[in-house]
Parts: sequence; structure tokens; C-alpha cells
Amino acid sequence: MSAPSRRSVLATGAGVLGAGMVSTPAAAAAPSERRFDGKTVLLTGGTSGIGKATAYALAREGARVFFCGRRAALGRRNEQEIRASGGEATFHRADVGIESEVSAFVAACVRRYGRIDIAVNNAGIETPRAAPLHEQPAEDFDAVWRTNARGVFLCMKHELPHMLRRGRGVIVNTASISAEVGFATIAPYNASKHAVASLTKVAALEYAARNIRINAVAPGAVDTPMLERAAKAFGMTYEQIAEGYPVKRIIRAEEMARVIMWLASDEAGAVVGTDLDASGGYLTG
Ligand code: NAP
Repeated sequence: MSAPSRRSVLATGAGVLGAGMVSTPAAAAAPSERRFDGKTVLLTGGTSGIGKATAYALAREGARVFFCGRRAALGRRNEQEIRASGGEATFHRADVGIESEVSAFVAACVRRYGRIDIAVNNAGIETPRAAPLHEQPAEDFDAVWRTNARGVFLCMKHELPHMLRRGRGVIVNTASISAEVGFATIAPYNASKHAVASLTKVAALEYAARNIRINAVAPGAVDTPMLERAAKAFGMTYEQIAEGYPVKRIIRAEEMARVIMWLASDEAGAVVGTDLDASGGYLTG
């Protein structure tokens, strides 16, 4: 395996938060309003990281959050924590790569809460190893593609009929800056995230006139378990990763939740089919 390039790590995350590194801007303070009162949000990948932060933040703003992941113990713990703090959430174990589980997840949400106003298709996995394309095992490509690309496809496939019946809906997919530019040594992840951006654009065009608004968000390096795993794999610290970003810091999962929530809110009504750069300026140049 050849040495990973710094750009590749920037796309999937890596490292350990360095002492003294500022990661919490004042602007990340939670707003006091409850923009999602009465809304039902279906969310994938709510057991950890960005999805967990988004589930908690949505519940704090009044949403009923129906979320999945494969790790049932973590899912149930998150459900209990949200309820203990006065929010409403239900965990449902589902693997987004398995169509029957996705369809059961969507149906269970409608049974539990009566409808889906917003879907956040966030579940994803990183490339297990950094290597040039000719050294990438086909099995790794399939595994990453199965969750990241097929997972988003299956989720939208089963969410959209419900939204079409209701005559409205909002979808936010978690893509990546890796959906917008190439990153050497992570072909499986990079290709899968380009697919997420593509699926987002195609679906946005197909359903915009039917009152269903679809976008994606493009995080850069966000402080999550995925970033920690990638850091170890690539042998980089958070300081080294942050150096590649104009903001010179790692974005917090709660900040990413805020971006996803803005895209999901009525405030973003004019935004359709974008993969919104939320990387702290990485894609700016
Ligand atoms: P994370 O902490 O590892 O969380 C990933 C979530 O996805 C977990 O809840 C995991 O739950 C779930 N998941 C993975 N495979 C799944 C499957 N087959 N079915 C259902 N759920 C599944 O990573 P994260 O950083 O928050 O990543 C969230 C999203 O952000 C991903 O799409 C990732 O590609 C994207 N992203 C992250 C970064 C970053 O720097 N962190 C940068 C760009 C984009 P279980 O393990 O319980 O199934």
C-alpha cells in the first residue's frame, strides 16, 4: 500500500484533537426557537457522529426523530437520552444496504408517527484502507458502495412514495467534499460520495415540481468516530488535518447538524439539488 496523501485524509477525516485546538466557534450556539415542532424526521446513521448530533438537535427543536443504525445498544441509549431530556425519538435497527430493512424502517416510522416530513439519509462508512486504485480490494469497493451509494438510493426510493402521497417532503443526504473533487487513495469512498451527489441532483430534478425538496451536505473533516478511525488509518493528527482547511480547525458534529437542519428547514426553500459545502472553506480553493 502506498502512503496516503494528505488530501485523502482531509476527505474522510482523521486524527486526534490536539491540545489547544479551537473547535467550537461562538456561532455554533443552539438557536432558541423550535423550528421543527410537530415535524417527523426519518434519519439514518443516528447511533453516532453527525447523525447522532443531528437527531439530538432536531429533538431539541421539537422534531419527532425516527432513526436507525445497526448497533441496537447505542441506538436504544440515544433514544433514552433524547427522551430523558424531554425530546421524542424512536430507534429502529436497520441496515441501509438491505432493501427489505429500509422499506420496513420507513413503514415503521409512518406507523409510529403517522408521516415523514423530512428524511436525513446520513449513514455512511469510510474506505477501510488507503491505497491506489489498482491495490483496492473489490470487496472494499462493494462494501463502501453498498452503504454509501446503494443505501442513499434505497432510502430515497422508499421515502419518496410516501412523500408523493402526502404532496410534500424534504430530503437531505450526507455527501462529502469527496463528492466534489478527487482524493487520491480512497477511490471506493470518493466514487460512492460522487454517487450520492449524483443521486441528489437527479432526484431533486425529478421531484422539485412535486413539492419535494432534495439536497445534500458536503462536510469536510468533522470530529466523529469515523474521523478518529480514519486518523489512525492514515497516521495523521487533527492539527495536520486542520492545516489543510482555510478555517484551520476540525468542524464539530453539532455544527454539521446545524447545517443539515438549515437545509431541512423552510428557510432553505429556495435551495434545490445542491451539495452544500460545509467544510470550512476547503472547496473554495
Ligand atoms: P460515524 O460516527 O461512523 O457514523 C456513521 C453512522 O452511520 C453510524 O450511526 C452508523 O451506525 C451508521 N451506519 C453505517 N453503516 C450503516 C448501515 N449499513 N446501515 C445503517 N447505518 C449505518 O461517522 P460520521 O462521521 O458521523 O459519518 C456520517 C456521514 O457523514 C457519513 O455519510 C460520512 O461519509 C459523512 N462524512 C463524514 C465526514 C467526517 O469527517 N466525519 C466527512 C465527510 C462526510 P451503525 O454502525 O450503528 O450501523
